[in-house]
Amino acid sequence: NFSRTKSIKEQREYLPIYASRADLCQLIRENSVVVIVGETGSGKTTQLVQYLMEEGYGERGMIGCTQPRRVAAMSVAKRVSDEIGVELGQEVGYAIRFEDCTSKKTVIKYMTDGILLRETLRESDVDHYSCIVMDEAHERSLNTDVLFGILRDVVARRNDLKLIVTSATMDAGKFSDFFGGVPIYNIPGRTFPVDVLWAKSTVEDYVESAVKQALQVHLSMDEGDILIFMPGQEAIEVTCDEIRTRLDEVDESPALALLPIYSQLPSDLQSKIFEKAPEGCRKCVVATNIAETSLTLDGIKYVIDAGYCKLKVFNPKIGMDSLQVYPISQANANQRSGRAGRTGAGTAFRLYTLSQYKSEMLLTTVPEIQRTNLSNVVLLLKSLNVDDLLKFHFMDPPPQDNMLNSMYSLWILNAMDNTGKLTDKGRLMVEFPMDPAMSKMLITSCDMNCSEEMLTIVSMLSVPTIFFRPRGREEDADTMREKFNVPESDHMTYLNVYTQWKKNGYKDSWATKHFIHAKAMRKVREVRSQLKEIMDSQKLKLVSCGAAWDIVRKCICAAYFHAAAKLKGLSEYVNIRTGMPCHLHPTSALYGMGYASDYVVYHELIMTSKEFMHVATAVEGEWLAELGPMFYSIKKSSKSRREAADKTMSNLEAMDAQFH
Ligand code: ADP
Ligand code: MG
Repeated sequence: NFSRTKSIKEQREYLPIYASRADLCQLIRENSVVVIVGETGSGKTTQLVQYLMEEGYGERGMIGCTQPRRVAAMSVAKRVSDEIGVELGQEVGYAIRFEDCTSKKTVIKYMTDGILLRETLRESDVDHYSCIVMDEAHERSLNTDVLFGILRDVVARRNDLKLIVTSATMDAGKFSDFFGGVPIYNIPGRTFPVDVLWAKSTVEDYVESAVKQALQVHLSMDEGDILIFMPGQEAIEVTCDEIRTRLDEVDESPALALLPIYSQLPSDLQSKIFEKAPEGCRKCVVATNIAETSLTLDGIKYVIDAGYCKLKVFNPKIGMDSLQVYPISQANANQRSGRAGRTGAGTAFRLYTLSQYKSEMLLTTVPEIQRTNLSNVVLLLKSLNVDDLLKFHFMDPPPQDNMLNSMYSLWILNAMDNTGKLTDKGRLMVEFPMDPAMSKMLITSCDMNCSEEMLTIVSMLSVPTIFFRPRGREEDADTMREKFNVPESDHMTYLNVYTQWKKNGYKDSWATKHFIHAKAMRKVREVRSQLKEIMDSQKLKLVSCGAAWDIVRKCICAAYFHAAAKLKGLSEYVNIRTGMPCHLHPTSALYGMGYASDYVVYHELIMTSKEFMHVATAVEGEWLAELGPMFYSIKKSSKSRREAADKTMSNLEAMDAQFH
């Protein structure tokens, strides 16, 4: 009941970091760089920036605080603005990609590490900031790691800048060494014992097992909230559904408030996890690893840990990153259990055996920089004039293969020349806060006279899930979705959705009626106008190709010819370069159209039950030969493709009529 009965001042003073305030402030005064270690919930993220402001650092510039996760940046900014008693976006604000919630008044700015990294492009010495807190450094996100290398040089040039690195784990020695042996401050913790219980045998289905465990806790154990860790959104939704269904079958069960939390969850629902459940009701939060250290929940007594998380890993078989489910590391496991002992003694149920923990889990997760594609980083560093990337000061240098692969993908996109220098196109690409292939597609569309269309497509691709599939109405939703299908292209299906929405006055009600997320569409419109601004600033023209939609497909092909696949069977393709199988997704516009395109390019691969192409477009074999001559020697003129194209046009006309 603490948060309901105590004033904000009392809550702040109760946090472990409060007792260290004077020591911390002195240490920061006397050193340019300080590393701070403290348990999750000790107050690092919410309090440090306020201390810095109260010490007057805000008068010399902004106090910036980076977060590896968007949700954390938004949620913490909201909390701190509440604590200070100001409106979010004024003195306290946040910035994440395509969303800047700050103003001229902003003193405390939370942001994703990616935002600060991009800011260094414009302002290499980050002169707007008097202090930068690099929060959650133990996460070792790609952008944080690159920022480490950049800011290390900045503090050498700017002796008025304060850099504070925080970590929730004991790996601080490495951070301290990186900056030349800077002081480490440990915030004395306040933790309670956690009883760790292991699975007795290997768990086959972790969702099923977690559901059972949660019900057992809820129906037979003492009061106290439950936190369940799942790898991703789908597993979270299934878990919530299952728990709900089974509770309905129990007579007179006590109330349970089920609260999912993952990065794509709408922000109004996200903030619910912090609210105390009503009297007599138990709270059960089902989360991704976002609740491991980035967000602190009070009152958790039971943790149920499935033992998996999703990681982005470069997959050499497909030549791209893919998001896959992996076992967590031992360090993650210990953090997760610890969440049960923050406000009292607790219990952690691990849905894996002790021997799995010892033999199948790494001690710590491999840093992102060592496992993902680095094209974006390479592009950024090159434009910061770091010519010899192998000499850049990385805390843990990426494997050379990884670096070379990334340079290669930039070279095939014509962002880099044979000598490794950025081309003019490459310089333009850096301006856009997107993956290089997406920027390339947009820039190329200006030369191909279809930038009006491509700007929409790129904006649609920058926003998660447009289509809405409510429980119990899946069939209606699917039928409606099919009406938008442009038979040859998911990209153009997206374009079609946006065009229809626009024709109908950008109305929420229209979107909702067509099973389309209205909020997502509004976001698309906003992203579109932001990208348009960048295009204007770079003197890139908006030109429409009118009805000549083949040009759009060719333009997609020009940027994604490295992700091309050839038809092998019914809706089954193989990546031409690697031979990797990839399948049309049943929701794809190309699926089950009665004919199949010989060649497609795809936006990305999603690995679920098999490798699915996410957002695919039919292309001509000749285009591949022409645009990606280093890969493809295809000579083929296909009559069926022409016919299909004609069919597309008549379909489009019919469709247009239908929506008016
Ligand atoms: P740390 O960064 O050291 O893990 P935080 O500063 O995030 O700690 O958390 C300090 C306290 O603030 C915790 O008790 C936490 O529950 C509370 N808190 C943080 N964010 C929110 C929020 N959005 N709503 C309510 N309470 C919050
Ligand atoms: Mg924190």
